[in-house]
Parts: sequence; structure tokens; C-alpha cells
Amino acid sequence: MRAAVLRNYREALSLESVPDPACEEDGVVLRVLACGVCRSDWHGWVGEHPRVKPGQIPGHEYCGEVVAAGPSSGWQLGDRLIAPFILSCGSCPSCRAGASTTCGDQRLPGFAEPGAFAEYIAVPRAHNLAPLPEGISAALAAGLGCRVTTVWHALTDRAALAPGEWVAVHGTGGIGLSALLLAQAMGARVVVVDVVPEKLAHARALGAEAAVDARSGHVAQEIVDLTGGGAHVSVEALGIEATTNASLECLRPLGRHVQIGMPVGHTAHMRINMSAVYQKNLALYGTRGMPGWKYPSLLGLITAGRVDLSPLIAREVALKDASTELAAFDGPTAPGVAVITDFGN
Ligand SMILES: [Zn+2]
Ligand SMILES: [Zn+2]
Repeated sequence: MRAAVLRNYREALSLESVPDPACEEDGVVLRVLACGVCRSDWHGWVGEHPRVKPGQIPGHEYCGEVVAAGPSSGWQLGDRLIAPFILSCGSCPSCRAGASTTCGDQRLPGFAEPGAFAEYIAVPRAHNLAPLPEGISAALAAGLGCRVTTVWHALTDRAALAPGEWVAVHGTGGIGLSALLLAQAMGARVVVVDVVPEKLAHARALGAEAAVDARSGHVAQEIVDLTGGGAHVSVEALGIEATTNASLECLRPLGRHVQIGMPVGHTAHMRINMSAVYQKNLALYGTRGMPGWKYPSLLGLITAGRVDLSPLIAREVALKDASTELAAFDGPTAPGVAVITDFGN
């Protein structure tokens, strides 16, 4: 099969012919229909991601059609499935408590084993997967493997967002736009922050009540003023120090900060304003991924027409364009995300 392989950090992915993946007893092999290009892929591409080494096929936001099904996978040939990027064991205490994103025995296609920047992907532990509803396109579904689902879990579980609350969203990439759209669907009010005027305008057009240009240097104060005392929930979507501090400082007393952006490499250890945490009695939540059992709640909201996530997808690209899309994360990006839907060239 054709696959895009990371041979050297920061160099174009190598388009190669590699052996077709083998199907595991509890897994499936999917013909990849779509795979998103995510900031976590960029972390791997630049050499900052602790798990991603040369030889890796990236790609962890995918959906596909079953072309081989292991005897205990529970799926049939032809099923169209979505996968969460964390494939949990299903039997440890964390998994049995429903907290499978904290499973101590995770398999991670795209990071630690071959991912979906390829025609086919082997997905073990297929109990984590969910059927892709008819009305959801493959390109949209691809985002449901990582960014959209991570946000859904962050808002519904970690932050326990309530209707009428203010949510500040720092960074309007794939995570930020997902947070805007889902928080609105949950009845919350949203203020977005970015440094790209075009992205702020895009977010405003999608319903954000306020948009703050971070280049002003007074993000936190502007949000405190706009929201009459500070946001109830603040989402950090980049994993960097400046936005993490703005997120903490824009909260009202008893506010909840949710760290969705991945602090890794040079940002793994940040200097953050713990005085704000102390003075305002803030809560800090880490979050990563979504347990597969939560797919029905999110997919139901989408298929019922209660939230339109299509503005998230900026462009569909070919596998050969993946390197260009990865490199784009080096600087401020344009609105929306890129999804690979053409694996032939
Ligand atoms: Zn991702
Ligand atoms: Zn487990």
C-alpha cells in the first residue's frame, strides 16, 4: 500500500510502498477514507513528540471501511467506522470505570505504531470504535478521532460546562473551532482569542459573541471586562505558555481552566501564574482524548442537526500534500483544518 513515512524530522514525508497491515485477532483493517492533519502530527514531525520516531507513518484522526475483521473484533466487512486515537485495553480498572483515556495500556496508531497517512491502517482493540452514521461525511468524521472528540469530553466531562456560562477559547485552530461550535450547542457563550484577524472574523461569523486579538497584550483583562468578571471556563488550545497564562488569568473566581493543547518539548514545563490559581480558587483540568463510549452522544447531536461542524473543514487534500500541511503549523494558520481524502497520489 501507499503510505507517507516520516524519515527525517522536518523533512517532507516520504511517499513509499509499504507492506499491507496485518489484522489482529481483536482488531480490524480499515481502508482509510479520510485522515485529518492535526497539531499533534506536527509535534511528531518536528521531533518534539516523545513517542514519534523516524520510520513512523503519522495520522491519528481517521475513519475508514473495514476490509478485514478479526474474529473477536465485533465488526463486519464493509462497516464504516470511526476510531478514537486512544485505543484502550477495555479491561483495566480505568477502562471499567469508563475513564478509558487514562488507561495505562494504550495503543496509539499514528504515534507509536503505523497511522493513517496511508491507504490502509490496522486498528487493534476494535471495541473502541464506533459506526459512522450515514449522514456524516468521511472528511468530517476524520476530525472526530481527535480534536472534536477531545473537546467534547473536555466540555462535557472535565469542565462540566453549564448553559449560560462564558467560555474563553484561546486559539481558534481545530480544537478552538470545535470548542466554539460545541460550547454554543451546549448553550454557553463564547469569546475567542487568536492572533490572526481572519480567524477571529471566521469565529465571529460562526457565532462567537466576542473576539479578542491577542496582539493587544491585554487578553485576560479584555475577557474579564467582556464577560462581566471573567470566563467560567477557559480552554487552552495550543499548549504554549502565553495562552496558558491568559487562560488562567481571564477566569472569574472558581473558574475552570482546561488544558487541551499539548504541552510538549520546550513547552512541557511552563512558568504559569499560580498566584491567580491560588487567589481565585481556580481549578486546572488536564484532558486528552475521549472514551469511545461517548461517541453516541456526540454523533447524535450532529445527526440531529443540533450542531454543524462542517465549518471546521477548510480543505480536502491528497496524501502527497500532507507535508505541506504539517509545515503550515510552524506559523499562524488559516481558519479551519485540512483533511486527507485522496490516498491515490
Ligand atoms: Zn490530534
Ligand atoms: Zn485499560
